[in-house]
Amino acid sequence: MAMMVRRAIWQPDSDVIRCTQCAKEFSYKVYKHHCRKCGLIFCDECTRHKLIVPEEELVLRPRNWMQEAVSSDLDNFRAPQRICDGCAPSLRDLQAGLRATVSRAYMDTLVDLDSKATLVPQADFYLENEIRNATLMCTRMSKTEGEEKIPKEMLDIAKGVVFLTVAKMGFMFTGRYGTGLVISRLPNGTWSAPSAITISGMGWGLQVGAEVTDVMLILSTELAVETFKSRGQVSIGAELGVSAGPYGRSVESDLTAGNKGAAHAFSYAHSQGLYFGASLEACAIGQRKDVNRTFYGERVSASKLLSGEHPIPLGAEPLYKALDLILYEGNVPPEHEEARQRIYRESVAGATGGGGGGGDGSGGRKMGGGEEGGRGLSSFGPKKDIDDDGSDL
Ligand SMILES: [Zn+2]
Ligand SMILES: [Zn+2]
Repeated sequence: MAMMVRRAIWQPDSDVIRCTQCAKEFSYKVYKHHCRKCGLIFCDECTRHKLIVPEEELVLRPRNWMQEAVSSDLDNFRAPQRICDGCAPSLRDLQAGLRATVSRAYMDTLVDLDSKATLVPQADFYLENEIRNATLMCTRMSKTEGEEKIPKEMLDIAKGVVFLTVAKMGFMFTGRYGTGLVISRLPNGTWSAPSAITISGMGWGLQVGAEVTDVMLILSTELAVETFKSRGQVSIGAELGVSAGPYGRSVESDLTAGNKGAAHAFSYAHSQGLYFGASLEACAIGQRKDVNRTFYGERVSASKLLSGEHPIPLGAEPLYKALDLILYEGNVPPEHEEARQRIYRESVAGATGGGGGGGDGSGGRKMGGGEEGGRGLSSFGPKKDIDDDGSDL
């Protein structure tokens, strides 16, 4: 199987007026897209696959030194790229192996727990930055006192946790925009893989004066977690009731009062001491599917992540650790981390040992049921060959 692999080159845009495959003419409506494996130019329809390309084969976009200085796409080999119909079949069997070896989900996420920096919403597409924010939020909100402190009892009862970093956008209009992640509590008490989210809204109220607010929502009912699994967008107030989280002595009484089975969450906010409470009304939380795909290396639904069907990623380890520290008040049983490490190792072994290099067409699909079993191919129905079919996950 030792074939010489040569990196293709980026076809200059000026070379073509028609799609390499379907010959459709390019225009202001029909955009040009490069396949990141063969480097040729196609229309949107003919390049609808999103697959990870081995680093040595990834076609690099030519850039001048100024573009390089602003951002780099050198790590594009870690995330799925646009691929043409012709190149897609040769890459598909490599996906499970590539996901387990190069994808961001399997990279360590480094967090400086002593950082004093203000957390900011993430405009980029990297879930590891949300994991870093969430980890710092846990650490900071467990150390403060008063209504910003997240009580251990709240994590004990949590069916899920939402972490959001929200900024005021007051330039053209006054709205709010934020990013973050949601995780759920699995039946065995452990946390699920994280799913990326965004929050936006106009009617934020006047209570919040700070520029950036860190918010933790403790999802206190199963129904609250279900809304995140089943909907692309969750509107606060209408679909998810939010009330200010109890603190101090009132934790126990408030818990029983606020837990009547409806989709409900308690909010804890950290914004320079200002009351935040229930002022999330009229905001909506949406999924960031592209961010999940960039991180996990494939399309994966929030439902699959939050139900535990997808194995937890090594990249979220700092967050799991930070949550454990609150739950066990510093005395975390060592077997918790060991159990997670085992899952990380098994995911990688299952993907690389099973069929990373297999050319038999089934090699890449030997992974544990959760990861590959229900993925894409069958569940996407008629568009089964399209890895990025835009289906509403
Ligand atoms: Zn085409
Ligand atoms: Zn191609």
